[in-house]
Amino acid sequence: MLKAELIDRAMALREPGEGAGRHLHQCPALVLNADYTPLSYYPLSLWPWQTAVKAVFLERVDIVASYDRVVHSPTAEFHLPSVIALRQYVRPSEYPAFTRFNLFLRDRFACQYCGSPKLLTFDHVIPRRLGGRTSWDNVVAACSPCNLRKGGRTPREAGMPLLAPPIRPTSWQLQERGRAFPPNHLHETWRDWLYWDVELDP
Ligand SMILES: [Zn+2]
Repeated sequence: MLKAELIDRAMALREPGEGAGRHLHQCPALVLNADYTPLSYYPLSLWPWQTAVKAVFLERVDIVASYDRVVHSPTAEFHLPSVIALRQYVRPSEYPAFTRFNLFLRDRFACQYCGSPKLLTFDHVIPRRLGGRTSWDNVVAACSPCNLRKGGRTPREAGMPLLAPPIRPTSWQLQERGRAFPPNHLHETWRDWLYWDVELDP
C-alpha cells in the first residue's frame, strides 16, 4: 500500500469528537491479530505509538482506527493509529504472562484463604525465606488480614488451607475467567499490572 493511501485511510478512519489534545503517551495502539481478535487479552496487547507507526510504515499492520492526535513528519500529517491489525496471523501463546493482574484474575479477585474480595494483596504460599518462588504455583491473592495472620508460615503451619491449589492457567482458562470481569476493569489500570518487574509489597 502506498504511504499516501495509508495516511488517507488513517484520516478517514479517525473517530470524531475525540479530544485532539491527548498526550502522545496516552495514545497506545490496540494490536489485533490478523483475525481481528486482540493479539493478547491479558495483558491487553497495546503498543506505544512509535512502535505502531513504525509497523504501519513497514506494512506489517493495517490501521483499523485512529486517534484525533496528529503527528508531523517533514512531508505529511499523520493521525496516530488507535487500533491496528497484523497482516500476518500469529499463533497466540498457550500461556498468559505472569502479571499481577493475571494472577488476581486467576484467583477471581478473591482471597484464596477466606474468599474476601477486599484489601487484596499477594501471598507466597511457601514463604520466600523457606525458598518459595515467585511463580504461578506459589503465589496467590490474599487479603491483608489473612496475609498478616499467616505471616511467614506455610498454610499447614498457620492452619490456613487454600481454597484451591494455585496453578499456571492457560490463556484459554484465563480468558474464560475474564468474562466475569469487564475489559474496562483492565483498561484503566493496565499500566500498573503489566509485569512482575517490581518487588511485591507483602
Ligand atoms: Zn482472607
